[in-house]
Amino acid sequence: GATIGILGGGQLGRMLSVAAARLGLRCHIFEPGANPPAADVAHAVTTAAYEDEDALRAFAESVDVITYEFENIPTSALDILEKIKPVRPGRKALRISQDRLVEKAFLSDLGLQTAPFAAVDDAVDLAEAIAEIGLPAILKTRRFGYDGKGQARIMTPEDAETALADMGGHPAILEGFVEFSHEVSVIAARNEAGDVACFDPGENVHEGGILRTTTVPARLSGAQRTDAVLLAAKILNTLRYVGVMGVELFVTDKGLIVNEIAPRVHNSGHWTQQGCTIDQFEQHIRAVAGWPLGDGTRYADVVMENLIGDDMDRVPDLAKTANTAIHLYGKAEVKAGRKMGHVNRIVT
Ligand code: ATP
Ligand code: MG
Ligand code: MG
Repeated sequence: GATIGILGGGQLGRMLSVAAARLGLRCHIFEPGANPPAADVAHAVTTAAYEDEDALRAFAESVDVITYEFENIPTSALDILEKIKPVRPGRKALRISQDRLVEKAFLSDLGLQTAPFAAVDDAVDLAEAIAEIGLPAILKTRRFGYDGKGQARIMTPEDAETALADMGGHPAILEGFVEFSHEVSVIAARNEAGDVACFDPGENVHEGGILRTTTVPARLSGAQRTDAVLLAAKILNTLRYVGVMGVELFVTDKGLIVNEIAPRVHNSGHWTQQGCTIDQFEQHIRAVAGWPLGDGTRYADVVMENLIGDDMDRVPDLAKTANTAIHLYGKAEVKAGRKMGHVNRIVT
């Protein structure tokens, strides 16, 4: 069978590798860190830095197609890989999702609603942006933020100075605070033939910036559900996207507002492992391997809960709980705020 190259060996790379193995495919992981979660289940692992051009070339030669579990792949590495094997999803999706300013501009150019936003490089920009957008607002680093890291809330003008200092001199974006009733996400897939399939939207609850739970079905009207799926499809079709994407949305009385997109399998799609015949990981592998998309119809109500840090102490009890599937990532060290695993509880 074919070999899928995966950039990144975290839990997403691990679960992608499991899905690929079920389809008779092999996975080769490229990961700078030692002993990554995916190493337990992948066929091969290259431990090398993204600056190691020879390692990148050898990796690309050894696989049939390249995908990734995170969006912050250095451009220089992509330049090398792309010349040797197809990288899916493609360059455009990566470029857009690597920079919140480019991402917001892309989404609003598509006619989708986003939070009001402005680029902020210094104190003058910030004062202008606050005057234009108003408060409260959130200042975010344009690049490399995740799990709410690299963000500072500005409630009053007095917060501006410390918020800017929190950016550490990196280019930032100011976003107006969206008064949402709740958050949902659409996990969408597109293959090379241009077929698009969306999983049922999930409702997301965050705690301290980190995803805590995803519940399906989400609280959405029929019209909102249709809107969510159509806007996700519009994003994927515009990018001629191949693979799975996570689209995070705010639900407001003025409609759905797009928060951000992730060009990969997404934490809020983990419920599909117990809720659908074909889960997001298999769907992604199918798309990048040139297979038909699978049937992602939801057949159960599910609550996905992340196991973060000390939540691992609950595993013995969870193991005795009915209707509960445990997924652990095999991470050696428990750390506060680190995603160690998740559970999918079937609600009957
Ligand atoms: P992720 O781990 O999902 O990649 P992230 O670090 O990229 O997170 P965001 O998704 O931009 O960060 O923000 C994290 C959370 O902060 C959102 O899910 C939402 O709860 C809140 N948030 C972000 N931007 C806004 C906004 N403009 N208005 C209101 N709440 C917001
Ligand atoms: Mg993000
Ligand atoms: Mg987010």
